[in-house]
Amino acid sequence: MSRQQPDVLVLGGGAVGLACALYLLRAGRSVMVIDRGKVGAATSHGNCGTITPSHSVPLAAPGVLIQALRWMLKTDAPLRIAPRLDFALFEWLLQFARRCNAAQCRRVTAIKAPLLIRARAELEALVRDAKLDCEFQAQGTLNVYRDARAFEHSRELALLPVEFGLPVEMLDGAACRAREPALNDSVVGGYFHAGDAQLRPERYCAELARAVLALGGEISESTTISGFRTANGNIESVVADRGEFSGRDVVFALGAWSPQVARQLDLRIPIQPGKGYSITYTRPLHPPRIPLSLKERAVCVTAWESGYRLGSTMEFAGYDATLNRTRLDALKRGAAEYLHESEGPQMVEEWYGWRPMTWDDLPILGRAATLRNLVLATGHGMLGITMSAITGKLVSDLICAAPAALDLAPFSPARFNI
Ligand SMILES: Cc1cc2nc3c(=O)[nH]c(=O)nc-3n(C[C@H](O)[C@H](O)[C@H](O)COP(=O)(O)OP(=O)(O)OC[C@H]3O[C@@H](n4cnc5c(N)ncnc54)[C@H](O)[C@@H]3O)c2cc1C
Repeated sequence: MSRQQPDVLVLGGGAVGLACALYLLRAGRSVMVIDRGKVGAATSHGNCGTITPSHSVPLAAPGVLIQALRWMLKTDAPLRIAPRLDFALFEWLLQFARRCNAAQCRRVTAIKAPLLIRARAELEALVRDAKLDCEFQAQGTLNVYRDARAFEHSRELALLPVEFGLPVEMLDGAACRAREPALNDSVVGGYFHAGDAQLRPERYCAELARAVLALGGEISESTTISGFRTANGNIESVVADRGEFSGRDVVFALGAWSPQVARQLDLRIPIQPGKGYSITYTRPLHPPRIPLSLKERAVCVTAWESGYRLGSTMEFAGYDATLNRTRLDALKRGAAEYLHESEGPQMVEEWYGWRPMTWDDLPILGRAATLRNLVLATGHGMLGITMSAITGKLVSDLICAAPAALDLAPFSPARFNI
């Protein structure tokens, strides 16, 4: 049995865990990252790579329930809830539904907007300072509509972030095409978010891992955590198939798997895996210059110098690890409705990932009440790449007892009695 004693053990080597490790190393702590696979190979791998403070309006918004019910009738709709007996999912959906009103939506936007503004700035600074070669570009994002009524109805929520300091520019169809010539004539309008950015997520993770190793951090891959030893309100060691590991502090960054592993600590983390899909291609001849969200189909389109990706859809189907052909095809069909050239010359990868979804659409950041040396950094939902650097900073500040860059109270595990 091996015994490693870094200052901090980081459980989970996705974008969130790796960013936590990097910030802790920069603050002078020794760190080991443990992951059951290769770091960066899970949900942080094939996502759309957009950095979007514009997504400060939560998923639980007025009108979402009616839209969700309509979508339930279609197998290729952007949202799917697989019918099954699952009490945790039922409770999650109930809590989510209770928040689909104007007052809650506004309350959460007021919390998310400052977090995401800081997140965007922190990510750019990290990419620059740590010289992360990940195709970061800050050219904004564009959300577009083909249905005039849907565009009209979207206005109130789409412009809500403006009240919280985020720039949103409303454009008609011609102005959308002028800004993004890859769009076809069917687009009737959209919203340009100048504060957004993009990167290639798998390169970002590889670069984070490189930077962690360069600063003397250790990474233990192919190491599955199966349990814990606790004593006197502390985690004494983490039990894995490749040995037992100890650290003064433990950062829990296990994304969508958080509830399963937390059960070993008698903690109930209310996260559901929100499955999304992507298809990656070689770069088309005339790809979009700006990342696009094709609103009625909920398809996200991102082009990099090194490739091109269609992604999104949200499926609550537990930990079902199959690639659903209907949903992959829906991405292609959706993109073809809006774009002159919707696919790249060669398909490189079909992929799914599980977003760690909380019902209030806020991450879980902070110390667990019952275990003093456990810091939770999970539940980043649809924005884990966007929030990775700020999470790393907040977690590092917490562990190093430095002043917090933001008030952590709204993200506290205590809101879920953890
Ligand atoms: C289709 C799609 C598109 C998306 N687009 C965007 C986007 O444009 N912008 C954005 O900001 N976000 C986006 N997201 C969300 C983003 O991908 C996630 O929020 C983010 O990747 C979560 O990161 P994480 O580090 O928390 O989790 P993960 O990357 O999933 O990392 C968790 C790690 O824990 C490890 N692990 C699990 N169980 C164990 C165990 N027992 N022992 C050891 N290790 C274990 C896993 O192997 C994994 O590496 C998208 C997601 C999807 C699915």
